[in-house]
Amino acid sequence: MATPDLHDVLIVGSGMMGAAIARQLRDADPGIRIAMIAGGPTVGAKAGQHLHDVEDPEVWAQYNRKVSSGVQAFYTGVKPSQGVGGSMRDVTPGMYHLTSLGEKADEMPSATVAWNAGGMGIHWTAATPTPWGSELDPVLTPVEWADAIARASDLLEINREPFPLTPAGETVARELRAHFDARQAPGREVQNMPMAVNDRGTGRKERTSPSVIFPALGDPASDAAFTFVANSMSTSLIHEGGRAIGAVCRDLATDETFEVHAAHVVVCADAIRTPQLLFASGIRPAALGRYLNEHYFLTGQVIADPERMGFAVDELTPPTDLEWASDCLWVPQSDDTQPFQVHIMTKTLVDEQHAPTGYAVGIEYYIRTEVQRDNRLEFSDTEVDAAGMPRITVHFTYTDADRDALESARADQIVAASRMGDFDPATESAALGAGGSLHYTGTVRMGAADDGTSVCDVDGRVWGFENLFVAGNGVVPTSLACNSTLIGMTSAVRAADALLRDLETA
Ligand SMILES: Cc1cc2nc3c(=O)[nH]c(=O)nc-3n(C[C@H](O)[C@H](O)[C@H](O)COP(=O)(O)OP(=O)(O)OC[C@H]3O[C@@H](n4cnc5c(N)ncnc54)[C@H](O)[C@@H]3O)c2cc1C
Repeated sequence: MATPDLHDVLIVGSGMMGAAIARQLRDADPGIRIAMIAGGPTVGAKAGQHLHDVEDPEVWAQYNRKVSSGVQAFYTGVKPSQGVGGSMRDVTPGMYHLTSLGEKADEMPSATVAWNAGGMGIHWTAATPTPWGSELDPVLTPVEWADAIARASDLLEINREPFPLTPAGETVARELRAHFDARQAPGREVQNMPMAVNDRGTGRKERTSPSVIFPALGDPASDAAFTFVANSMSTSLIHEGGRAIGAVCRDLATDETFEVHAAHVVVCADAIRTPQLLFASGIRPAALGRYLNEHYFLTGQVIADPERMGFAVDELTPPTDLEWASDCLWVPQSDDTQPFQVHIMTKTLVDEQHAPTGYAVGIEYYIRTEVQRDNRLEFSDTEVDAAGMPRITVHFTYTDADRDALESARADQIVAASRMGDFDPATESAALGAGGSLHYTGTVRMGAADDGTSVCDVDGRVWGFENLFVAGNGVVPTSLACNSTLIGMTSAVRAADALLRDLETA
């Protein structure tokens, strides 16, 4: 075991994946000494709390105004060059485009990371569709996938019916079923969107966030064996002869550097900055940053025609102060017969007196793209970004097959949306710029062997290292139609298992 002044496990990153690792370690043993590097400043009073669920009305209003478009990319910060020369001292916490942080991301202009404790996990919509079919890489058996998905679902507290359908929602489901169900695989018919959303007695539909998964993150004093290294980031990992020893960190308020030492290190710093940190630390497997994948995200909205659909406008449920969405439906992908995932979120439109005037149906298509080795994050040895880390150049192109798939989705969206109301794709549909889905995968992908096509094994253990792990969406090697968090969290489940095995034998 580690010496008393060492931590047993150092977790770099306090987002969804970092919290999932911490929670599993803690459930297994209250004595494991866990340290966690926040990665950014805390928003509000409690680290890792979802902004949808904070009490502070100012923070709440800021979040909910932005997010009610239902489109992830409309939520992100675009201020140019926030930090300068490696100091992020005065940077407001939130979501930032890579270009805002000084990266070269013209080929993925909407790519974004979270600059705050809790990462994207305090901002996310919390849709957790189940990955299926060719989304599940055969490097794991179906039984292993099923087990990891079930355990990740528990960590996320996934709710199969977070938004019970309203009468208007039933009419939308009816039209979607008529359009899609004949092409769906068994069990993959149109259904409620599973979401990490629950009513925990507060009257809000609360989103599962890092502090829900690992409560000590929001209240570090409650856990004597947990050290939360707040308002700090790691600038490099310390390692020697295939063993990680800890991390060099920077205090974000003072720019002072310090070290944190641990017997095991797991990096959960998102799919962009996990490989960046490895590169900064001189850990550079051939596949590092490569195989960057992201699905297309085709937004759409149709104002449902009450007569055609058969609902009464004055009976629609207006949004409340606590919840803007009415219904949330899911059309799963079914591989060849139905390659797209479709996510439907509806909201009641109201006038100034808060009386219902209409019913807007958001109909978003997620369209898979091919995995390409040359779609990659290239890290500079000489230039740094706003945080002082190796500057990233994003290389990202689509193949002809990707573009064809997007056109098929556009054609399908017109037919599906037109069942519900008048739909003009010229004004009511748009494919977001690359990066806009926020679901990035592949950059630290897992594989069966250290053959140059992967960064880690199926447990997230970095090739060539005994005790260095990575976890998160970057570990996922396949092309996804589904949102990435649930499948990404399966890597945190396996990494925590491996860490626990290692801790037992140490
Ligand atoms: C508005 C929005 C809506 C979304 N909706 C969905 C959805 O509906 N469904 C879905 O599946 N996904 C959704 N996502 C994506 C989802 O939030 C991410 O998949 C998830 O948060 C990834 O978890 P993570 O821990 O890998 O990354 P994050 O949660 O982003 O956490 C990364 C952590 O690493 C830290 N970090 C980075 N670099 C360093 C460093 N050098 N040193 C120390 N720490 C570092 C960061 O500060 C952060 O704490 C959405 C995201 C946003 C922003």
